[in-house]
Amino acid sequence: MTFNENVRLDTSQVRTGGGGGRGPGGLAIGGGIGGLILTLILMFFGINPDSLPTDSGSSSPAQVDTAGDASNSLVANCQTGADANEDIWCRMVGAVNSVQAFWSSELPRYGREWRMTETVLYDGVTQSACGTASNQVGPFYCPLDQSIYIDANFFRLLEDQFGAQGGPLAQMYVVAHEYGHALQDQLGLLGRAQQDPQGAESGAVRIELMADCLAGVWVGHASQVPDPATGEPFLQPITDEQIRDALSAAAAVGDDNIQERTQGRVTPENWTHGSSEARQRWFLQGYQTGDLNQCDTFAVQSVN
Ligand SMILES: [Zn+2]
Repeated sequence: MTFNENVRLDTSQVRTGGGGGRGPGGLAIGGGIGGLILTLILMFFGINPDSLPTDSGSSSPAQVDTAGDASNSLVANCQTGADANEDIWCRMVGAVNSVQAFWSSELPRYGREWRMTETVLYDGVTQSACGTASNQVGPFYCPLDQSIYIDANFFRLLEDQFGAQGGPLAQMYVVAHEYGHALQDQLGLLGRAQQDPQGAESGAVRIELMADCLAGVWVGHASQVPDPATGEPFLQPITDEQIRDALSAAAAVGDDNIQERTQGRVTPENWTHGSSEARQRWFLQGYQTGDLNQCDTFAVQSVN
């Protein structure tokens, strides 16, 4: 997925580095109760950290960004669409800008207003109100501080360990999926995952597949979402190959694929995100219909 080179990136929608005092103080880095809370939250909102293989490269307590200033350099050079095409951090900024511009213009058609939601981009380790964030846990939405946390290094992990095809759209699909959770939070739906956290037809799986579908809705509209600064669409029309990339990412994070690779067998009773096949199908449903109402995973008997 390619950005139009002259669109302007708005880095005020992202924050980099440390928590800036928004999280509850005193959480231990790299474990302790913060880690425990994060594990519980991620069971519902991200990739289950228990499923992720250990990344030997970052097992030591990584550098922690406390002030955030040093790490602002992550997005300091992100100004235009051309930067987003070149650099993964700038691409994250561009994706955040496009997704939020889309929901801001789309939700009023359904009688709703989008509430701007910040993404924290970090490299290594940072704090969230849900606990310590690291590339061990993957991208996630934290409902306690209503922010999304993304370590761009996660995408390397996704590619290396789970066999996803890399590619810009696959990366942006992940951003859009997390914004799907932000939308679900705004619509008061996230409790359904907590009430029914596991199993092939569980509330958790339905929440995750809905987020995949919402990501697809954005992708379907993405080449028509204008950059407010220039009026030019953020993104060029999507290619078939890029769609295959996104589907590959959706398949890689299917519970059956992750279980197969980490425990050698598939146990649907423990699913929290849905099968590879279902994740691809719900993404396509959103992409092809472009309609929020087609993403109601609670309206169908079986989501698989
Ligand atoms: Zn999710």
